[in-house]
Amino acid sequence: MDETLCKIIFFTGLFIVEIIRFPHRLRVSRYRKDKKIQESRIDKGESVLLTMGFIGMWLVPLIYIFSSWIDWADYSLPWEAGWIGTLLFICVIIIIWKAHADLGKNWSPSLEINEGQQLVTTGIYRYVRHPIYCAVWLQTLAQCLLLQNWIAGWAGIATFLPVYVIRVPREERMLLDLFGNRYRTYMKKTGRILPSWRKLLKK
Ligand code: SAH
Repeated sequence: MDETLCKIIFFTGLFIVEIIRFPHRLRVSRYRKDKKIQESRIDKGESVLLTMGFIGMWLVPLIYIFSSWIDWADYSLPWEAGWIGTLLFICVIIIIWKAHADLGKNWSPSLEINEGQQLVTTGIYRYVRHPIYCAVWLQTLAQCLLLQNWIAGWAGIATFLPVYVIRVPREERMLLDLFGNRYRTYMKKTGRILPSWRKLLKK
């Protein structure tokens, strides 16, 4: 697939994901303004992780797409790579849309508990505890395939890896503190980012 087409597809994918997220971001900012956040575990470390994610998955790709500053680090993959990246991004969009629909008002962009937070164990959350992070991993893979550049392509994986490794245990700790045994039982029945058929069949 042509390099420009790959860039257009990646940018369109990013844009669609943000459109899906927009009403949810708006709701969270309203919650923050109305002091409807029951608990926040956003500390300095978490803010650094959020900024890193933004740089690796947004800023660097946009610089690459709209300038030629880092073109010296380009690589070239067979044409199929672009189509695989596109397919991955379609999966990302479907998963993000479904996860947001299922999580509803319980979503927040970081480690926060909203007023009246409910434990969601249905829809896509019946199979995996972190479908949105699964989608982000797929997006970082699509980034390597669609932005064929050692810096812009790999910045996603490089910055999301620490976010994932540090955030997931903290998020699960927070949900365990809030929901106790209900979350513990839920953990036993679900996979982290991939469905665990063994756990599902054990039910
Ligand atoms: N980790 C999840 C959600 C990411 S959004 C995913 O990848 O899909 C992060 C917020 O979602 C957390 O602050 C937490 O409050 C909330 N959350 C995560 N899992 C939840 C669940 N099963 N039920 C309700 N809220 C949940």
